Amino acid sequence: MALLNNKRILITGVANSKSIACGIAKALHREGAELAFTYHTDKLRSRVYEIAKLYSFNEIILPCDVSSDSSIEKLFVELKKSWSQFDGFVHSIAFAPTEQLRGDYVNSVTRLGFEVSHMISSYSFVGMAKVCRSMLRKNSSLLSLTYLGSNRVVPNYNVMGLAKASLESNVKYMANAMGADSIRVNAISSGPLKTLASSGILNFKKMLSFYAKHSPIRRNVTIEEVGNVAAFLCSNLSSGITGEIIYVDGGFNTISGTEDM
Ligand code: NAD
Repeated sequence: MALLNNKRILITGVANSKSIACGIAKALHREGAELAFTYHTDKLRSRVYEIAKLYSFNEIILPCDVSSDSSIEKLFVELKKSWSQFDGFVHSIAFAPTEQLRGDYVNSVTRLGFEVSHMISSYSFVGMAKVCRSMLRKNSSLLSLTYLGSNRVVPNYNVMGLAKASLESNVKYMANAMGADSIRVNAISSGPLKTLASSGILNFKKMLSFYAKHSPIRRNVTIEEVGNVAAFLCSNLSSGITGEIIYVDGGFNTISGTEDM
């Protein structure tokens, strides 16, 4: 039996077919979930529509810019017209201005860069949960995407590392606040993947080859592998897991030295 039969999940963060959210949509659809999608800007609408068509029959594709409370509120007002209740959402959203993602952290970080990256990449997760809380059914699962740069220094990741640390703490506080309502909250910490968001990080290609060389599995992970873990975390098979950061990085986070040492 498929893992996600009778589950309705909202997917955010599809920008194109390389997006992690796209790999997640594919796996959730395969496991029987009914999906709805958001798109960030009008420019992305048709692209998200094309992808959504592959994984959804209901054509629920709604705009949402998480930098605006009213946009988040409007999203759930609109979603309610089709789904009065649902079973969770995937938050696959992050942003920092490109100039923040290069060079010396202390020199590059700015008050505005700090504020924007935390607001879009961390606050928006609880910001969405706050608004749709009353629409979430028992055994719902909320899922976000994070990266190892939250607790290790990764060159050029800079302020985004701090925003991911905030997001991971957000996961734990949200899990505790919502656990009594049988709502679980987790994040997947993915290894590096070539996407629109990661292309803004200076020397990202070098990071990909470093992981491929030194990860225990000696290759990079794929969006499909992240999607499979997301399907498990959205399903009732993971009913005992909440407040966790699950690594899907080929074991890279377990390594502290390389063979070149
Ligand atoms: P992506 O560019 O495909 O997705 C990022 C999404 O964030 C885009 O769809 C974009 O439209 C959306 N977004 C940005 N600002 C927004 C706003 N104000 N409102 C609504 N949406 C907004 O890149 P991705 O790599 O798939 O990123 C998805 C998530 O995965 C991010 O949280 C990212 O940090 C995380 N992640 C990525 C990697 C990687 O190497 N690519 C590794 C670990 C974690």
